Amino acid sequence: GNKSINAKLVLLGDVGAGKSSLVLRFVRGQFVEFQESTIGAAFFSQTLAVNDATVKFEIWDTAGQERYHSLAPMYYRGAAAAIIVYDITNQASFERAKKWVQELHSQGNPNMVTALAGNKADLLDARKVTSEEAQTYAQENGLFFLETSAKTASNVNDIFYEIAKRLPRV
Ligand code: GDP
Ligand code: MG
Repeated sequence: GNKSINAKLVLLGDVGAGKSSLVLRFVRGQFVEFQESTIGAAFFSQTLAVNDATVKFEIWDTAGQERYHSLAPMYYRGAAAAIIVYDITNQASFERAKKWVQELHSQGNPNMVTALAGNKADLLDARKVTSEEAQTYAQENGLFFLETSAKTASNVNDIFYEIAKRLPRV
């Protein structure tokens, strides 16, 4: 039969990397050039059908500001999945993403399905982080990696779909 899975998912990453934009693209199919920055965290839900299951994502979109860092564990604790987002045009955001990976490895649920999203892939001319570098890092750290664009929608549904496929079927 078709299974129903509820999955808490958290988005982590630097301010401005495009976390809220990825969620809005996935949940509402929209993109705004001047997305307001998130205060604290925002909640969304979206259902996705995969082959053998219907996955209801309960999505926590976190702020990313350092001053909200102490709140992050509330969102990633108990999460079945995480998307760690950086901006391919911003090397510092990639370094910040690695810090989140380390934090999840040391504090998070060990079975968490974790994706690394190199966002703003439409801004190729301004690229600072190569896909090879990110792919290598992802492989070494047990993450799956996609470059996404909330603006063009490239790989946005795909990243949620890949997560849905990897969630444990209980
Ligand atoms: P957050 O702080 O991680 O939630 O980032 P936001 O979603 O607020 O996005 C920060 C800025 O980057 C906004 O001005 C967005 O319009 C822009 N942005 C987000 N995703 C993309 C993308 O894929 N491509 C481009 N060109 N801009 C993006
Ligand atoms: Mg935001």
